[in-house]
Amino acid sequence: MARRGHSRADRNGDDLNMAVRRFDPRRIKRHHSYTVDEAARTIGATRGTVRRWLDNDLPAIRDRRPFLILGEDLANYMARRARPKIACPPGTCYCVKCHQARQPAGNIAEFVPINAHSGNLRALCPDCGYLMHRRTSFSQLEAIRGILDVAVMERQPRLNDGG
Ligand SMILES: [Zn+2]
Repeated sequence: MARRGHSRADRNGDDLNMAVRRFDPRRIKRHHSYTVDEAARTIGATRGTVRRWLDNDLPAIRDRRPFLILGEDLANYMARRARPKIACPPGTCYCVKCHQARQPAGNIAEFVPINAHSGNLRALCPDCGYLMHRRTSFSQLEAIRGILDVAVMERQPRLNDGG
């Protein structure tokens, strides 16, 4: 598995998201799973910050306690946030490997509802095969379905511990 850094790209986002830039994603081991506590310690953030990311759209394994966050997901999430927002045209997703908006391979995507209003659109990058994510509201989903073949998945179980 290639573990190449992307220091050149990191620098592009310098001024844009100081909040994320303060933390250090290079310490994340991609094949490791972290509890909220461990993730916070690893990147030098507070647990509250990591919980906010989880409430946003940082993926986690939520069917057991404590939640586990995959290093890969955490690193990707931070990479996305640290980078200037690129306006992805409807029906495309941002590929964190290519650093570009991409039309999903085969025009196929999966939609995983997160809450009553929105979910995560997942699709494969046609160029590098990497799994792309895009936070998508249900109303955006309707528009996207005219462009992509979207399979709607079951809502992920979510523990409600008041965090
Ligand atoms: Zn790609």
